[in-house]
Amino acid sequence: MLVVMKAQATEDQVRAVCQKIENLGYRAHSMPGATRTAIGITGNKGEVEQGTLEEMPGVQEVIQVSKPYKLVSRDLKEENTVITFPGTAAGIDGPTIGGTGLAIVAGPCAIENREQAFTVAERVHRAGAQFFRGGAYKPRTSPYSFQGLGEEGLRIMAEIRQQFGMKIITEAIDHESLDLVEEYADMIQIGARNMQNFSLLKRAGRSRKPVLLKRGMAATLEEFLMAAEYIMSEGNYNVALCERGVRTFADHTRNTLDLSVVPAVQRLSHLPILVDPSHGTGKRNKVTPLSRAAVAVGADGLMVEVHHKPDEALSDGPQSLFPDQFDELMVQVRQIAAVVGRTVPSIRVGVPVAVSK
Ligand code: PEP
Ligand code: MN
Repeated sequence: MLVVMKAQATEDQVRAVCQKIENLGYRAHSMPGATRTAIGITGNKGEVEQGTLEEMPGVQEVIQVSKPYKLVSRDLKEENTVITFPGTAAGIDGPTIGGTGLAIVAGPCAIENREQAFTVAERVHRAGAQFFRGGAYKPRTSPYSFQGLGEEGLRIMAEIRQQFGMKIITEAIDHESLDLVEEYADMIQIGARNMQNFSLLKRAGRSRKPVLLKRGMAATLEEFLMAAEYIMSEGNYNVALCERGVRTFADHTRNTLDLSVVPAVQRLSHLPILVDPSHGTGKRNKVTPLSRAAVAVGADGLMVEVHHKPDEALSDGPQSLFPDQFDELMVQVRQIAAVVGRTVPSIRVGVPVAVSK
């Protein structure tokens, strides 16, 4: 159920409607928009008595929502969600996810050691990435594979933020790691394998840090949106989605990157959506072409794995770009972005950048 307030409704009227909803034993989610505020009601098992709310001052209409998701839906909020990150003390604006500018997230699959993380960070920062990624907790298929450095990895990423000013995005794999990720990182990543870990989603929903939710490897669009709904239903509205490929019969790539999900999400939801062509393809030579395609299809940003010595990487070496290839990717996506009215952060000047072969 959705309460749409009149354009001229006052803050007091919005507050009174929220109070009424809470008094009825439900949860009110007030979403201010450009022209009006809509209030989502969750926690109701069946229909909420419409009349009581409809008669309240400032209420335009009360709508029954037919879709299973409410808070992620464009019915609730017409405008795109833009996640804003804090700026610097020097007054420089922080980056956004979902605005006109594309969000570029880059870094190694896993933080392996300080030297590796700083080498990659320096290069992706110079190429224009506003967000640094790296796993400190790795969900690996084999228990004998590298599992991540844990808190030590988070500390290294906090130093990288300090040195380069990039925001840190890193995965939490359970409640315990989420407590730490929330403390050190700027955005909490929920990985494909945990997309339907409902207790973890609810925990992320109680965090004050934005959440990057990756699509499960066999998740339908509705399941993907319902996972985001779990996070939002707990009161965290700063959620970005990330398409990272789904499993199909195709064996020329690790996964099949489903770029058609981008416009499909944008039609139904106001949440931003990034594309991860690294996990989406698993092959270095396909990352740049699919990054171009992702930007062309309207993605709000890219997540790309980069490693300076991919042959020695402890995870996902075959899909990690060399730093020079990442420079070239940025040059190419900048041209595509211009065609679709988006911008890409520029190369940080003062440092020569090799634009490859
Ligand atoms: C990752 O981004 O490091 C990762 C493990 O991705 P996914 O959850 O999409 O497999
Ligand atoms: Mn990886």
